[in-house]
Amino acid sequence: MSTSYLEKLNDRQRCAVEHGVGQDETGAGPLLIIAGAGSGKTNTLAHRVAHLIVNGADPRRILLMTFSRRAAAEMSRRVERICAQVLGANSAAMTEALTWAGTFHGIGARLLRIYAEQIGLGVDFTIHDREDSADLMNLVRHELGFSKTESRFPTKGTCLAIYSRTVNSETPLNDVLRNWYPWVASWEEQLKQLFSGYVEAKQAQNVLDYDDLLLYWAQMVSDPSLAEDIGNRFDHVLVDEYQDTNKLQSSVLLALKPGGRGLTVVGDDAQSIYSFRAATVRNILDFPAAFSPPADVITLDRNYRSTQTILAAANGVIELARERFTKNLWTDRQSADRPKLLTVKDERDQANYIVEQVLANRETGMLLKQQAVLFRTSSHSGQLEVELTRRNIPFVKFGGLKFLDSAHVKDLLAVLRFAQNPRDRVAGFRLLQMLPGIGPQTAGKILDAIAADPEPLMALGEIPAPPKSGQDWGSFVDLLQALRKSGSGWPAEIAMARTWYEPHLERMHEDAETRRADLMQLEQIAAGYPGRERFLTELTLDPPDATSDQSGVPLLDEDYLVLSTIHSAKGQEWRSVFMLNVVDGCIPSDLSTGTSHDLEEERRLLYVGMTRAKDSLTLIVPQRFFTSGQHAQGDRHVYASRTRFIPATLLQFFESGTWPTVSPAASERSANQIRIDVAARMRGMWK
Ligand code: ATP
Ligand code: MG
Repeated sequence: MSTSYLEKLNDRQRCAVEHGVGQDETGAGPLLIIAGAGSGKTNTLAHRVAHLIVNGADPRRILLMTFSRRAAAEMSRRVERICAQVLGANSAAMTEALTWAGTFHGIGARLLRIYAEQIGLGVDFTIHDREDSADLMNLVRHELGFSKTESRFPTKGTCLAIYSRTVNSETPLNDVLRNWYPWVASWEEQLKQLFSGYVEAKQAQNVLDYDDLLLYWAQMVSDPSLAEDIGNRFDHVLVDEYQDTNKLQSSVLLALKPGGRGLTVVGDDAQSIYSFRAATVRNILDFPAAFSPPADVITLDRNYRSTQTILAAANGVIELARERFTKNLWTDRQSADRPKLLTVKDERDQANYIVEQVLANRETGMLLKQQAVLFRTSSHSGQLEVELTRRNIPFVKFGGLKFLDSAHVKDLLAVLRFAQNPRDRVAGFRLLQMLPGIGPQTAGKILDAIAADPEPLMALGEIPAPPKSGQDWGSFVDLLQALRKSGSGWPAEIAMARTWYEPHLERMHEDAETRRADLMQLEQIAAGYPGRERFLTELTLDPPDATSDQSGVPLLDEDYLVLSTIHSAKGQEWRSVFMLNVVDGCIPSDLSTGTSHDLEEERRLLYVGMTRAKDSLTLIVPQRFFTSGQHAQGDRHVYASRTRFIPATLLQFFESGTWPTVSPAASERSANQIRIDVAARMRGMWK
């Protein structure tokens, strides 16, 4: 059998790929691959999966957890390519069988669906995204009267963030408040009540939020026989970006393979950027000692991604970090060009510069797709988006407001969710209030009435039409009962829901036409899923961007520029990378400078952003930028200075410059011209 795919790997990568393969049970112990950015960790993991399959592992028994579903799909593609070299025609079928690939949340949802009955969950449970969860939190907040009596009670978003942090870090509420939310600590008692109410509401409605997917999973594997049963489904469990897992995630993982056999995790402590979701770098550092004998550790030290000059600058930034485990990388990709550190007047100039530069790169043959613009916060790209739109340059945005967050798409999904689980109050409220004549009170009563019935959608048919709801009530009930009967088939169901929704769309939105196009697109996306339940689950967990290449529809072959938050750029690479607003206040973000721990995380973020670049990197420093939103001062322009993570001692790694570059001769000429014009005007005045 040809193993030519192994020849491209360096010795350590190869060692990681072959670790334990073909040995008996005792040989395939746990493995940690820990290494810096661009050292081929993900690539090595893909080769390992392929190598396992080539050596007879059953792909249906491989569990692969990656950072995003997108990353899992990319991994499957690479695995298929490698397998194809060796196994030929059969390989596609084999890699298609690599079905257990996804995010922790996605895999959790699937396992819970399988074991629902054994752990007392209704099989029809629906999943709330963050916004739905915040809405439910809000409903409970109102019911408890906190929003009325306590005028400065934390917002629904803050309440949810506190709840989520408490759950994910498995830390007592009181510590979470003291450490991260001291300004709301006086509401501890009320928050306790609120969170209990929220948990009860979720249980009564048979809905799970994102955190529940992990919590129930952890609960499930705390039962040794269930844990064993689930663990036995998989011969190999592999995890990428392990530095961004939290305690819950590592505990469910270790419960699957308590002895560590067949377990491989990969990560880089210098890229740990998710502590706001309670991720802890300790997971990766403590991994080896979690087993006896300890896990084997393989480090990689060669970077294959970036030029030497880019790597030197990135290394410079991360070397100033207080604590670090992975060592600096080296590369043999020489380049004469240092990364640019460019000062511009304001965000408009920043946008103009990028557009000019991206087009200039395009002229030299670099596709738009090979270039990316990264930023700390989604709202930073506003000015650039306007400029790109004006100049007709196609772009996609990751990590911003998603297609699925738009009202009309959520409306249509609410129809499906409610049909799936009529106890889901957030979906129910959304839906009922679309009907004329139904407000929150009536909606609440209707939902109470049907929730008490074992067959809620049948019960719905027996409720008399609320006054003023007219014919709309009848067609609503008909629709839901038709959807309830499984006979209608998929994706016909979503077409039915859309037809029902059309008149409401017309009534509620002025730009119904564009919104209709989105819904058609949703229907196309839906056709790619086997059924309603999978569609809802996967969409809620890892929504595709409507205009991205991931949705599988139109844009697939087109060229477009990528705009992304640094968080969403994780694991990816582009030939040319621009970073916006590399100033204090943006990175580190004003909101994160509280503790040195937060600051260190911001430094790692800059490192993650810089290490996405292969050939060219430009950091832009606008002297003025606009901040909005969460600031106490509200929206405002502020004067900015270069990020503190690039102190003067690091300037040697960059080529500093300004834009527009005004040559002294040119500025003199224009100054002279003004003097002449003024003189001419004055002469005209006394002529
Ligand atoms: P990150 O930390 O950013 O996730 P990573 O360590 O996962 O990075 P990869 O994305 O796997 O790194 O690889 C970075 C680049 O290096 C990719 O373009 C990959 O194809 C290339 N690469 C990795 N290993 C080799 C190798 N042995 N020979 C040539 N190119 C390689
Ligand atoms: Mg990677």
